[in-house]
Amino acid sequence: MTGDTILRDRALGAYLGLAIGDALGATVEFMTPLEIRAMHREHRSIVGGGWLGLRPGQVTDDTQMCLALGGAVLVEQGWRLGGVADAFVAWMRGRPADIGNTCRRGLRRYMQTGELHGKPAEEDAGNGAAMRNLPVVLATLTDAESLESWSLQQARITHWNELSDAATLMLAKATRRLVLGGDSRSVAAEADELVRGFPTFRYAPWPGRTSGYIVDTVQTVLEGFFSTASFEDCLVRVVNRGGDADTTGALAGQLAGALYGASAIPERWLKRLDPTVRAVVEQQTDGLLRFAFGRKWGGTDRSALGSAGDARKLDAPFAVRRPAPVA
Ligand code: MN
Ligand code: MN
Repeated sequence: MTGDTILRDRALGAYLGLAIGDALGATVEFMTPLEIRAMHREHRSIVGGGWLGLRPGQVTDDTQMCLALGGAVLVEQGWRLGGVADAFVAWMRGRPADIGNTCRRGLRRYMQTGELHGKPAEEDAGNGAAMRNLPVVLATLTDAESLESWSLQQARITHWNELSDAATLMLAKATRRLVLGGDSRSVAAEADELVRGFPTFRYAPWPGRTSGYIVDTVQTVLEGFFSTASFEDCLVRVVNRGGDADTTGALAGQLAGALYGASAIPERWLKRLDPTVRAVVEQQTDGLLRFAFGRKWGGTDRSALGSAGDARKLDAPFAVRRPAPVA
């Protein structure tokens, strides 16, 4: 593989990995490891179901909010925070299967007041901002400053909390380093910096909690990432811990996919992933890489365009298009 081909494999691995972790984990979201064992022995197939009653391969808010964010960047061919918020609102209006309380509250505030952030709040320490940040990582691969500022801006539309901010940035920087060719040591470096700033994130030994609290989520994701050596093992380990398994699965899939590449994702999982989601993920990956690298991008694009024209043909709520204006 040439340099750009490897980079695309890692970028696509991160995005497909996120969607697959979401689809795999949603089946066992809010279950305990004991309940999972009783029902599945070991949960390792994308079968849908779960508390949301999903179709096999269906994804949830984690992937859908990424697609909304990625679509907004591609439509604008740049950063306009109002466009991002509008895309989130359009998604919420489509009656998604699940939406976190903090996300709903923040988007309602935006709809009512037009404000693109609230105030710093203790209760905003959920994982909802960190889980949807991957498109920002891909769009800013050549621009580390924008990575930080766009990440925090999109996060604070719904979550303004120092733990959420710090974790969103750590995951963003770690994923960026992996896509650009780093190995697990680059993730360890970012994770250790996070722990130095906020010791509550200390993840080894693993404290054993898997909730949607950003600290629990990050610790569970890092434990799974560092104690496995393949994409498949990482996701299976993380989702079988239950709890917020679609989100820990999504973030573990993002990191493991960025390290091992799309070519390392088991074919049986790729085949099960909702084909529309898979197509839009591929288009957005190519579109975001082309946006990031401009004319320097020599990657082999399967979609050839990866932006408005092609995606509009997809009967998907996340096809790249301008969202309806907010009333
Ligand atoms: Mn979800
Ligand atoms: Mn979740």
